[in-house]
Amino acid sequence: NKAVIFKKYAVGYPVADEHFEYVTEREVSYDLRDGEVLTRNLFVSLDPYLRARMRGPEETALFGRFPIGEPLDNHAIGEVVASKNPAVPVGSVVVGYLRFEEYTHVPAGHRLTIIEGARESKLPLSVNIGALGMPGFTAYGGLLIHGKPKAGETLYVSAASGAVGQLVGQMAKTLGLRVVGSAGSDEKVAYLLNELKFDAAFNYKNSDILTSLKTAAPEGINIYFDNVGGHHLEAALEWMLPRGRVVICGQIGDYNTANPPGVRNLFVCVPKEISIQGFKVNNFSDELKAQFKKDVSEWLLSGKIIYREDITVGLENAPSAFIGMLKGKNFGKATVKIADL
Ligand code: NDP
Repeated sequence: NKAVIFKKYAVGYPVADEHFEYVTEREVSYDLRDGEVLTRNLFVSLDPYLRARMRGPEETALFGRFPIGEPLDNHAIGEVVASKNPAVPVGSVVVGYLRFEEYTHVPAGHRLTIIEGARESKLPLSVNIGALGMPGFTAYGGLLIHGKPKAGETLYVSAASGAVGQLVGQMAKTLGLRVVGSAGSDEKVAYLLNELKFDAAFNYKNSDILTSLKTAAPEGINIYFDNVGGHHLEAALEWMLPRGRVVICGQIGDYNTANPPGVRNLFVCVPKEISIQGFKVNNFSDELKAQFKKDVSEWLLSGKIIYREDITVGLENAPSAFIGMLKGKNFGKATVKIADL
């Protein structure tokens, strides 16, 4: 059984050979007890929060730490190849937390959800851990519940070409908002403008963020969907209109920095009555999830929204693809393909 093993806690950017190990002969037991299943894994998702799971004991554990010496795990898609759980028979295609390995022996009680119609769907299978999975739900719930968008308002989203950002911007457009995005390359900016039809976009690497924001949204912004933190958040607060809303989705700009400088202008929240709300996607309701699945499937199938994925082929390439994603080398949702269905 091939697997990617977690080797060492990280400070700063992880390094593929130092923090991970790709092994090819790890044992997997085919001997199943009641309730257990064996999956043949097809896709694993690469998400920024995995970096937080690499924090050592000297840092606060924000999400469960990866156990050293064990394979990484995350949202993934697999095919059930052996089963002692009647709810997920052999042949089911499932989504759930699986390990970065070829085959996963899934314990009894572990939640796996069958992807109905997986073999016939017009959408790529990988979309179930992208636009129709955790990042999609993050964009949908974060925008609708916490952004409280209203037609005619202006929204700014950072990391706008990524897994979450590209959906936030497109969803806001469908609701009648004016949308501004920032991203880390001219190619990504062109994608935001030409393919996703954002109203304005800029490359934060070759311009001053606040100056660009003022040019892109001369009237100011009502909502900032924060994926990055730091200087992006500072600029957004500075240029926010009274009663604006900041949705703190994530702050990837700080994840690989030991002592991030922080945000220096929070005081503007007082005179402008700005609200700042963080959230965790796992805490949205099941009702919202059902509505999200329905809406986003329809929008993807009708072409109302599009979704770009950045798929790396081969489990052995997962560590470098993950580190690449943290550094902005991904263009779209970062995913690793392990095998064909
Ligand atoms: P992306 O697909 O957007 O990939 C990460 C991107 O972050 C990179 O491509 C890069 O894009 C950008 N980035 C990396 N470093 C920096 C930096 N120093 N400054 C500015 N941009 C940087 O990831 P996701 O869409 O999966 O995640 C986006 C955010 O959403 C993250 O902060 C993540 O933690 C958060 N999140 C939060 C959830 C929640 O429940 N609250 C759930 C899921 C995600 P570029 O080239 O544009 O720099």
